[in-house]
Amino acid sequence: MDKELLAMLVCPLCQGKLKYDRERGELKCHYDGLAYPIRDDIPVMLEEEARLMDADEKLGKAAGPEPGKTSGPETDSRDMANGKGKPSA
Ligand SMILES: [Zn+2]
Repeated sequence: MDKELLAMLVCPLCQGKLKYDRERGELKCHYDGLAYPIRDDIPVMLEEEARLMDADEKLGKAAGPEPGKTSGPETDSRDMANGKGKPSA
């Protein structure tokens, strides 16, 4: 695919920028969750021809787990005693 051509292409629905998926040969709109096929190097910019992406694809996740990205639960337990009503010495 021509990079300049890719840069010109936008989603026909939301006019948003498309992401080229080289492995699948598709142009993806993450906003609409649609993947437009490329046939014979020609992108088919038709909603009815587009494939609906699954949830993981919509999130922009690549196939397979991503190591190094751990988001553990943050423990934020603050023992802040409310000093209201306390007689100050
Ligand atoms: Zn779109």
